[in-house]
Amino acid sequence: MSLLPNLIDGDWRPSGTERSEPVYNPADGTVLARVPLSTPDEVDAAVGAAAEAFPSWRDTPVTDRAQLMFRYKNLLEENSEEIARLVSRENGKLLVDARGELRRGIEVVDFAAGIPTLMMGETVQGVARNIDSHSVRVPLGVVAGISPFNFPAMIPLWMFPIAIAAGNTFVLKPSERTPMTAGRLAELLLEAGLPAGAFNLVHGGHEAAGALLDSPAVRAVSFVGSEPVARQVYTRAAAAGKRVQALAGAKNHLLVLPDAADRDLTLDAVMGSAFGAAGQRCLAGSVAVPVGAAADPFLESLARKAEAVTVGDPLEKSTEMGPVIRREARDRIGEYVERALGEGAELLVDGRAGVPSRGYFVRPTILDRVRPDMAVAREEIFGPVLSVIRVGTVEEGVALVNRSKYGNAASIFTRSGHDAWFFRNRVEAGMVGINIGVAAPMAFFPFAGWKGSFFGDLHATGKDAVRFYTETRVVIERWE
Ligand code: NAD
Repeated sequence: MSLLPNLIDGDWRPSGTERSEPVYNPADGTVLARVPLSTPDEVDAAVGAAAEAFPSWRDTPVTDRAQLMFRYKNLLEENSEEIARLVSRENGKLLVDARGELRRGIEVVDFAAGIPTLMMGETVQGVARNIDSHSVRVPLGVVAGISPFNFPAMIPLWMFPIAIAAGNTFVLKPSERTPMTAGRLAELLLEAGLPAGAFNLVHGGHEAAGALLDSPAVRAVSFVGSEPVARQVYTRAAAAGKRVQALAGAKNHLLVLPDAADRDLTLDAVMGSAFGAAGQRCLAGSVAVPVGAAADPFLESLARKAEAVTVGDPLEKSTEMGPVIRREARDRIGEYVERALGEGAELLVDGRAGVPSRGYFVRPTILDRVRPDMAVAREEIFGPVLSVIRVGTVEEGVALVNRSKYGNAASIFTRSGHDAWFFRNRVEAGMVGINIGVAAPMAFFPFAGWKGSFFGDLHATGKDAVRFYTETRVVIERWE
């Protein structure tokens, strides 16, 4: 079984560690590869290579850095089907979802190719007599990225294209559960002509990630993962004097108003949001909040649809939902359902039975009569479980959303402009969907999680990311 190599200073090097983990295909439990748990010394070597490569990459004309992004984009397009299949195999999401995440990632490369415009500074002439002032954006140095399992292509692509286009050098530590896609993204980056050391890939778990957080040569850290880890990463890296953006977990609510309840658009959007990618998206709808008379017709139609979902091999065309990432994830999801039933929730659709015998599957599950104090209402489950909390009014629904410690995303389904207006202005979430189930991030906007869904100031992607990966220098000059 092949042990995945690290990429350090342009060389694919086998890790010297004796510790490694299997990378499973979650659809059938077979082992696809082994991922090394690289040592802090190996992380230091990668950071050292990035630090050495930095001055020359920084001084490479911005137009050349932009051209590299165009070449990289072309290579990603040419190899997109192969990459999507790799994502699907190691993550378990449907091929169509894997293609979708790669498309969103390539859009970040498109955005990064505009770096000459994005990095432009500002000028004011005559701030005093004979004195002018201007600002420029300069890269930081070595930037580190630590990514989660659920978007093996898109999330690394949120990070390194913009950082590298801005003139930084990069060290990526991908998820140890879905590490293979990152290797392919790295190979294509070299093929596009990026100099040795400007991008490095180190496989591993929390120890390798921790070494990046502590390394004095790393100037900034982009992290995406669960809330407890994001909180730790933010604290540890900030204490080491670094700039940090840590995107965290979520508990997203979907308000369904009576005027939208029985529409196909609403039902399909809620289905896609709750059960797409087996609920393993940070933007997944996790709590449905039917308002007033919406509840009964909405739940009846939704239950019928959820029961009919075809679960199985994500590479099969007829499959509508794939597995969850690991056996432990499946068991944890089952425990949440058991606990909710013990606390008085009603099982409207039971997703525990009728799953394929191999692999890690849970069918769509709907829990009705959930109360806000239950664990399934408050905590991120990260699986295909939709909790239903019935409310009387839109105001009550918004108050319920705002009690969550998270603030990643929230959606409303309605034909009322007034209710939509009220929702988007009062709800405490950074990504808001109006008749949209997944308020998806776009490359040219920041991914704007709030509250416990984000630790930091400048978000990923968009102009926020350009600011995150650059420092502003302000020059004031006098010429007699
Ligand atoms: P995770 O927190 O388990 O792991 C994320 C990364 O952190 C991995 O690379 C892992 O090796 C590393 N890590 C683990 N422990 C660490 C530690 N103590 N210090 C430093 N690094 C450590 O997350 P996951 O299970 O891979 O991903 C799912 C989670 O990510 C969910 O909570 C989901 O909501 C969240 N997520 C958030 C967003 C967002 O944009 N807000 C996007 C995708 C996923």
